[in-house]
Amino acid sequence: MTANLLDFDLEGLAAFCERLGEKRFRATQLFRWIHQKGASQFDEMSDLAKSLREKLTVTATIRGLGIISQHISTDGTIKWLFDVGAGDAVEAVYIPESDRGTLCISSQAGCVVGCRFCSTGHQGFSRNLTVGEIIAQLWFAEHFLRRRLGTEERVISNVVMMGMGEPLLNYEPLVRALRIMLDDHAYGLSRRRVTVSTSGVVPMIDALGHDCPVALAVSLHAPNDAVRDGLVPLNKKYPLRELLQACKRYLAFAPRDFITLEYCMLDGVNDSCAQAVELVSLLGGMDNAVHWCKVNLIPFNPFPASGLTRSPRGQVAAFAKILTDAGIVTTVRKTRGDDIDAACGQLAGDVQDITDVQKRMLRRRTIKLNPVLEFDRMVTEDSVHG
Ligand code: SF4
Repeated sequence: MTANLLDFDLEGLAAFCERLGEKRFRATQLFRWIHQKGASQFDEMSDLAKSLREKLTVTATIRGLGIISQHISTDGTIKWLFDVGAGDAVEAVYIPESDRGTLCISSQAGCVVGCRFCSTGHQGFSRNLTVGEIIAQLWFAEHFLRRRLGTEERVISNVVMMGMGEPLLNYEPLVRALRIMLDDHAYGLSRRRVTVSTSGVVPMIDALGHDCPVALAVSLHAPNDAVRDGLVPLNKKYPLRELLQACKRYLAFAPRDFITLEYCMLDGVNDSCAQAVELVSLLGGMDNAVHWCKVNLIPFNPFPASGLTRSPRGQVAAFAKILTDAGIVTTVRKTRGDDIDAACGQLAGDVQDITDVQKRMLRRRTIKLNPVLEFDRMVTEDSVHG
């Protein structure tokens, strides 16, 4: 079995080179070819000795993910559905803005946490993604977008681990993938621009703070344990008090001096003015209450199985005002890519029932895509789903 070089961080690639009888510094050259230039063929790597390229051809591969579909929204958001084998599929979404390009990527096929408002949570859990499968989403998207935009400059400036899955329940591959994102010989993203979003796996929040402190977002969604127990089942294991204490500990390592708290606004469930006051009190229970967090209110994207509806706009505004008046920095997330089901919580809207994925995928064309060589084909087939 050949090694997939997308699975290696720089240290792992150096060890691999040593096993081939090569100097460790060759790994840096290889790493740059793969991640900075998007190479997928060893023949392209003109500054590597021919003998090394020949060794690599028989021992290694650079294997991205098959693309099941690509959808481009009228607002420029792009959603890809990737084939990760055995009937499983994961999604990534690119969100362009005037001052940044954000890629939202997946860490698991499905999710075991089962949040009530989340489309992925309703499809069940299949498996953890490997390092290579996590990083392949960025590798593909970055080089595809460069070709699409006709630039050699970096296009993706921010990565958020907010796609399918709970990243902290796939910890080792997550951390390796983060290290590749941060490595100056690969994507060179700053820690402030890489965000891990968690539903609140308390021990792993602490671990991340020690191992690879990047920006942290926590799915809060409720002002008390009774409401949160019904929305985020993990709350029964790690209740709010423990979660908020973990947030506070993380601040000592975080690249930003705040943690983002995500709050999905659900009509009649967690959006009353009384609950906003309760949330102020909950967050105010922390030292330095006003400054340690930012609250991001997210308009819910309804899907039938949830039995939930979106809060009226006026209620979101009233809720936001109570937080803001209390001195808590509060934003309301713009919805992006609504027309292609790429908005938050809609990922996997296409693959809600994991048991049916295989059947649906058989009806689709799966394309093994080299981001560079096959770019032209992709832009002429913006939507390749069957
Ligand atoms: S919100 Fe995140 S943790 Fe919760 S079910 Fe969805 S993917 Fe899993």
